[in-house]
Amino acid sequence: MRKQNLSKNLTAIMLASVMLVMPLAAFGQTRISMPKNKYKIQDDVKIGREASAEVERQMPILNDNEVTRYVQDVGRRLVNAIPSQFQHPEFQYTFQVVNARDINAFALPGGPMYVNRGMIEAARSEGEMAGVMAHELSHVALRHGTAQATKQNNPLNQILGIGAILGGAVLGGQQGAAIGQTIYSGFMLKYSREYETQADILGAQIMAAAGYDPRDLANMFRTIEQQSGGQRAPEWLSSHPNPGNRYNTINREAEMLRVSRNAVQDTREFQRVQSKLTRMPRAQTMEEIARASQNGRGQGQGQGGQNPMGNGRYSSRIAYPSSRMRTYSSGNWIQMNLPDNWREFPTQDSVWFAPEGAYGDQGITHGAMIGVAQARSNDLEQATEDYINGLLQAQGNNYLRQNSNYTRASLDGRNAYATTLSGRSPLTNRNEVVNIVTTQLRNGGLFYVVMVAPENESSSYNSAFRNILRSVRLGD
Ligand SMILES: [Zn+2]
Repeated sequence: MRKQNLSKNLTAIMLASVMLVMPLAAFGQTRISMPKNKYKIQDDVKIGREASAEVERQMPILNDNEVTRYVQDVGRRLVNAIPSQFQHPEFQYTFQVVNARDINAFALPGGPMYVNRGMIEAARSEGEMAGVMAHELSHVALRHGTAQATKQNNPLNQILGIGAILGGAVLGGQQGAAIGQTIYSGFMLKYSREYETQADILGAQIMAAAGYDPRDLANMFRTIEQQSGGQRAPEWLSSHPNPGNRYNTINREAEMLRVSRNAVQDTREFQRVQSKLTRMPRAQTMEEIARASQNGRGQGQGQGGQNPMGNGRYSSRIAYPSSRMRTYSSGNWIQMNLPDNWREFPTQDSVWFAPEGAYGDQGITHGAMIGVAQARSNDLEQATEDYINGLLQAQGNNYLRQNSNYTRASLDGRNAYATTLSGRSPLTNRNEVVNIVTTQLRNGGLFYVVMVAPENESSSYNSAFRNILRSVRLGD
């Protein structure tokens, strides 16, 4: 191991010295000029700072040190490669991963960048992920946001209204499913073709200077197109429209650039982070995230880790589960039936269902919850036991005890385990019964259905629970 590293280092040193003696004139690159901008550098910084506070209030930021640190490292490497004439010491480049499924990434004026988990999962290599980031960085470094406003002669406060648009339209929840789009269109300016070309070219230059292969930026556009499977173009492509022959433009620029012979294309770190992400519970789409914050309905209450049921008030009079069922589905991932009178509350890794009066900041007293837990073990019984132990140890659940062993069951034709917990609920002051059914997903995750009702109402709830379980269809 050590030996191999040493010889690799030697090659790198030798290569570096070869490069030093190469005449610089052998390389050319397209010259980019900063677009006209009537705003101050500080305006970019201020707009970006305000919008990023809004983003982090509304979007689930992935809370995983390893993943975040990795993306930050790639980001720093690119930032250091921004040509000096486009460096603004006032800018603060920061990098966060958004736990959303859509293939998207965006950067705000002045530096804050957000890369969706879906983008990292879609990239075929570190180079492709870095390509998207280099393109985004270029928009920031060239100050395209405020430059565009200069061109359109918009008053500055129209840009500052970004936060207001989000605060009002998204959280007010007037526009239903279309709201998912609003979140993004609010932050992501649709750039002109001219700016797209600039960001492609500067992006390629930054890639080369950072030791990547600029052609990976071109490749990433193809990868994203392919991932969309001919359906609606991913959000990222529509806010970064193809100025025409983008693929060729980038590759032509790459030919003029000094690209290191051992340019980084893929790394073990990227592979590790990507496989970690694919093993996590399925991320929500932006639309689901928006819907969740709409259901939360709070003034200024966003999704980012907050309890969407927080505004509920517990009541002692709860309507029986309606015998009319409705279908709940989430992408192709799951479909199931639910009593018509239960509301749904998606959170980052689970979805809760409860009737009015049965949910609040302490969880639910009547209803159900589904979700996916990361499993340490491939053994269903072991994974189930881990999950139940976690549940019992979770804050607020210490009144529950497991009062049966695991019983073999079946869920959507798969092997499953069922188990029952019970205890006196501090919310209802009555004995509560919690039935849990678990099965394994093909990616190794543990899918769970948790059903909750007071013991003395079991008879009214059991048939609803049976209907739910019978209707579950998993699409993994
Ligand atoms: Zn762009």
